[in-house]
Amino acid sequence: MAVEKRTETKEGVEGMEITEIRIFPKEGQDKKLKAYTTVTFDNSFVVRNIKVIQGSSGLFIAMPSRKMKTSCPKCHFKNEIGSRFCNHCGTAIPSDNTQTHEGDDKAEHRDIAHPITQQFREYLQTNILEAYNKETAKTISSSGSPEQT
Ligand SMILES: [Zn+2]
Repeated sequence: MAVEKRTETKEGVEGMEITEIRIFPKEGQDKKLKAYTTVTFDNSFVVRNIKVIQGSSGLFIAMPSRKMKTSCPKCHFKNEIGSRFCNHCGTAIPSDNTQTHEGDDKAEHRDIAHPITQQFREYLQTNILEAYNKETAKTISSSGSPEQT
């Protein structure tokens, strides 16, 4: 009896597959930002500017995001969220303009593209960090260990 077998998981991942990862290491100013990456899915969809960040407990990835702005009620200048006064005309900006009143900094940034399952996030992160480690192993040849704090 033929049982229909679904190929729903591939290495524990449903759906999209990473087909290419490009790493653009960042040196300098921002020590926490280690690299930008460009990731291609299924040879047909590219996401740029996924960041590799050095956190306190290791490397992690941050999805591309944009800063949310709040516009001035008077002149419609786009101000940073959290601004009390318009940077353009000085008008007080009512704080109830924003729904991000949770005291959470991250609320100011909205991801432009991001995985919606934990599983895919892990798949993405594992692969990106692997590619990053390979890339840096290649470039750091004789400059000694940068691991000192
Ligand atoms: Zn204004």
